[in-house]
Amino acid sequence: MDLNLKQQLLLIFTLLLLSAPGYGQDSYPGVDDVPTGEIALRQIHPDVWLHISSWQFDNGMKYPSNGMIVRHGDELFLVDPALGEQATEALLAAIEEQIGLPVTFALSTHFHDDRVAGDKQLEEAGIKVYATALTRRLASAAGNTVPESVLSGLDRAGDAVTVGPLEVFFPGAGHSRDNLIVYLPAAGILFGGCAVHEARRDDPGNTADADIMAWPASLRRIQDRYPQAKIVVPGHGLPGDMSLISHSINLLEQFDAGKTKR
Ligand SMILES: [Zn+2]
Repeated sequence: MDLNLKQQLLLIFTLLLLSAPGYGQDSYPGVDDVPTGEIALRQIHPDVWLHISSWQFDNGMKYPSNGMIVRHGDELFLVDPALGEQATEALLAAIEEQIGLPVTFALSTHFHDDRVAGDKQLEEAGIKVYATALTRRLASAAGNTVPESVLSGLDRAGDAVTVGPLEVFFPGAGHSRDNLIVYLPAAGILFGGCAVHEARRDDPGNTADADIMAWPASLRRIQDRYPQAKIVVPGHGLPGDMSLISHSINLLEQFDAGKTKR
């Protein structure tokens, strides 16, 4: 079997897996599969892996988190560190061991800890970590790790920039004022980050820094721009398809209506 056929079969298998009704519970790594400080890689396309890590809060609640690794020639592009410093060390070790190519670009998709706390480990490993000026400002104000490199051209809602295999898109404020999404045109994979919720989630999550009014319109910008996306990856939990975007809009509209009633 030549590599191309193998790659094609992997893609078909992944698409089947993702579209199967029962997908996820058994096959996608969850908090019980990935203890805090550890990492799991899941290949979903010949050139794309998701990385899954977890965090345990003081109250015992466990929370998983997704990031993405994209192969481009002999280099890797990383979308978000893992959850925390230790898991990001584990991520770098897993990349070395399982993929064996250098990470030449990393992006933090917003200023919260789940997207920046591991950036120091990346930078210590010689990886340049990019974020928008707004993300760097918000991270600094929150006392979070500040990614060192600036990614410009994403000031207005609807702006997009291409970096290697990634199209980085600013849909407008949502989960946070600075949330970015990443689309991979070659693979049809959309990394929605924390602006997009997994299907089994029934509340809009951490809204401390959210713009609840702007969020649905920002999600509609994603729908308008990427109707062709085949796989959609939320910031936390199971990947799905574009229905995750409409699901997230529904959650927000219900949440908002609930608030107005009270
Ligand atoms: Zn998040």
